[in-house]
Amino acid sequence: MAVLLLVLLLAVASGAPEVINIGGLFLNTEEYEAQVFQLTAEDISSNHSILRGQLLALPELVEPHNSLKVSQSVCSLLQLGVAGIFGPHAGTTSSQVQSICDTMDIPHIETSWDTNQQRQDFLVNLHPHPSTLAKLYAELVTAWGWQKFTILYEDKSGLVRLNNLIRMYEKYGLNDKKNEHTITIRQLDPLQNHRQILREIKRSGDNNIVLDCSVEFLPEVLKQAQQVGLMTSEQNFIITSMDLHTIDIEPYQYGGTNVTGFRMVDPDSEVVQMAVRRWQDLEMKRGKALDITPETLTLNMALIHDAVHLFARAMRRLDSPPVKNLDCGDLENWGHGASLINFMKDGQSMLRGLTGPIQFDNEGFRTNVVMDILELGYDGLISIGTWNSTDGLNLTRSLSPVFHQESESLVNKTFRVLTALSEPYGMLRQSSDALKGNARFEGFGIELIHELSVILGFNYTFDLQVDNVYGSLDKDTGQWTGMLRQIMDEKADLAITDLTISSEREAAVDFTMPFMNLGISILYKRPKKEAPKLFSFMSPFHTEVWICMCSVFLGVSVLLWIMGRLSPYEWTNPYPCIEEPEELENQFTFNNSLWFTIGSIMQQGADIAPISVSTRMVAGIWWFFTLIIVSSYTANLAAFLTVESTTTPFKNVKELANQKVIMYGAKGSGSTINFFRDSSDPTYQKMYQFMHDNAAEVLTSSNEQGLDWVKHKNYAYFMESTSIEYFTERHCEVAQVGDLLDAKGYGIAMRKNSTYRNQLSTTVLKLQESGKLSKMKNRWWKEERGGGKCEDAGSSGNPSALSLEHVGGVFLVLVVGLCLACFVTLFELLSHVRETSQNENVPFRQVLIEEWRFIARCHGSTKPMRKYNSQEKVSQQAEDSQDFVHMSSYGSSRYGLNTNGKQPLP
Ligand code: GLU
Repeated sequence: MAVLLLVLLLAVASGAPEVINIGGLFLNTEEYEAQVFQLTAEDISSNHSILRGQLLALPELVEPHNSLKVSQSVCSLLQLGVAGIFGPHAGTTSSQVQSICDTMDIPHIETSWDTNQQRQDFLVNLHPHPSTLAKLYAELVTAWGWQKFTILYEDKSGLVRLNNLIRMYEKYGLNDKKNEHTITIRQLDPLQNHRQILREIKRSGDNNIVLDCSVEFLPEVLKQAQQVGLMTSEQNFIITSMDLHTIDIEPYQYGGTNVTGFRMVDPDSEVVQMAVRRWQDLEMKRGKALDITPETLTLNMALIHDAVHLFARAMRRLDSPPVKNLDCGDLENWGHGASLINFMKDGQSMLRGLTGPIQFDNEGFRTNVVMDILELGYDGLISIGTWNSTDGLNLTRSLSPVFHQESESLVNKTFRVLTALSEPYGMLRQSSDALKGNARFEGFGIELIHELSVILGFNYTFDLQVDNVYGSLDKDTGQWTGMLRQIMDEKADLAITDLTISSEREAAVDFTMPFMNLGISILYKRPKKEAPKLFSFMSPFHTEVWICMCSVFLGVSVLLWIMGRLSPYEWTNPYPCIEEPEELENQFTFNNSLWFTIGSIMQQGADIAPISVSTRMVAGIWWFFTLIIVSSYTANLAAFLTVESTTTPFKNVKELANQKVIMYGAKGSGSTINFFRDSSDPTYQKMYQFMHDNAAEVLTSSNEQGLDWVKHKNYAYFMESTSIEYFTERHCEVAQVGDLLDAKGYGIAMRKNSTYRNQLSTTVLKLQESGKLSKMKNRWWKEERGGGKCEDAGSSGNPSALSLEHVGGVFLVLVVGLCLACFVTLFELLSHVRETSQNENVPFRQVLIEEWRFIARCHGSTKPMRKYNSQEKVSQQAEDSQDFVHMSSYGSSRYGLNTNGKQPLP
């Protein structure tokens, strides 16, 4: 004290900036807190932008429960002249200090909360109020889904905090299921032997523990909990101490215990790192080392730092009124205390301290408290989100604990697995013996759980959802139903059947990766065989093909007729014995041309044989065309005659929606009906309305009932494709109609944040990749319980008529061939005309015009022999002509002219 007085006198005498004394009361154990108090004051003094005067910290050590000593310390500080008293941090002496400060008009700044504390005008407390903390505890307990837990507290103040939790817990509504939650309250042993209590908790089977214990005793409590086996992967702890991050947590890091804690001070934050660095610098100037690091900075130290800064700011706003030496025996007071307190509580210039934003409500309680939520994992404590007293929890990752992202052994765990009777996922085993336990069930889902248990080493007991309700959210009551409700109420660990993964369900429970993919489709009576049509012989070709065929038939006939007339080689001697006939004859009359082409198409031939190259080309290409067309027709006709076509009254969901004769529905409380309910498609909405209005007649309690209605009523049933596949394998009178309306999958459901989700999902994927799941599906769908019965029934597809696309090529070949033939015809004609004009010495043009005139008459199948007056060549022509007649049966008629310019004579 004498030293302090000396410092004070020296400071005043040297004319240094005005000194503002602040007094601090610290327990003997709070050596670091006192150090922080002093260092912060020094730090502020060195920074004139915060405060113009010099802040001089006067720390006093006090005993926790000695009120007289504490009062004396406060009075001696007041005598020195202080502008504020900080602390003490703990003990029953706070109210004593408070009352002196009230009398002397000196601000009292607290950084801790105890049960005796009263709300006073001259008090500011930076510690979050217990009601605020209780809110945080309650939100965490709610988020973690605890319905049963044990509160383990150290002392009375802890109980007060947790008493609030109990009240809040009720408010947060976890106990709405009358008497289904249990809160056990136990006190830790004041003599620090907690093993007996911890053992009792373990024996009680309650794995959720809220531990309220000061940071000094926390390592011991955790150690003893570990010793009695209460720190295993089964247990979940919420530790209320906000200094959890300052203890050595490594011994508990690998046990898998789910430990949740919180902190207001983030050692990694810039502001904390900077503050500690400044303190280190100050100590270094004195040649000392600082033992405090960001990691060992407790909440109380940080609050002291923030309190001194808060005070300094308020002083600056009040223009640093001079301190006054006060005597506890006098009635005199300082006169600035109330204003200082008001400036400190006033949130106008909000201070951001080491413990976040420092703001107070009207009553002087800290508001806008922000905390980091911590969780213990293999890497130590990690932040999984924040909590804000205004907005509540904001977790940055899913609620599943850190450990559970790592693989935790499921060996020897026993799961209660819920199933529902739905073929072939969960079925009652058929046996003449009375079966018990798991042996009662069989099916795809049962086998899948067995496979998972073999790989992961867990045990399971199956239970049955008797009402067959899988689970959906009742919009009226806000409650979940069916199997999902059982899961949420912890009556079962897993649920397996044809349970569809949906976003709505995902919000309430967790699912594994889908073990099967599917979509909604329609189950309806298998289409009936249609009576063969009277004109089914027309079916093999599309109408367009028939039209094209008629056109080419006419076209080729006309072309043949024209070519026959054009080609000189088609004009023949009708009487081969007469050497020089009067006239020549052409076999390709229009009728004969038609007869030739129809004869070919009917594969009968005709007694007409083309002679010239051009007509033979046409005939050849036509025969090729008819060969292909007739073969195609015959092949397709066989399919049409052997397969009877089938008909359904509707081909897709739209057609079903637009008719009124066939009723349609789905499973009453399943994801299929929910698909229609939640769809924005007008057709589906209309269908949902229909199903909803006629619920009693169209909504079923199970797929089996849906199948029965399809078979016996005029009813179409919306069912999931895998189930349709199963039923159509066994009930040949039903079939799937139309495509899938959506795409989704079945998963195994479990409680939210289940620790085993990742492992189950990974194993499901492994089973999928190894082909095990498809083998299992094949067996349960196609082999077991009458599978494969209807394999033939669905195989017949209706043949389809051949369109132009199928036979277009052969039409093209025909057209190209005909064009070529046309050219050849022209060539034949022109070369004949040229030859005639040369032989007869008649102009080319004249011969051509005469030929053309005859052709253009377009009638008459005989052509008179031409006579030209070229006497010189007559004898020679006659010789040639005779030679030719001998050589060829066609004789000179091939040229259409006699050799001497007359008609050839017989
Ligand atoms: N798989 C459906 C569900 O999980 C049940 C059958 C259905 O709705 O078609 O709810």
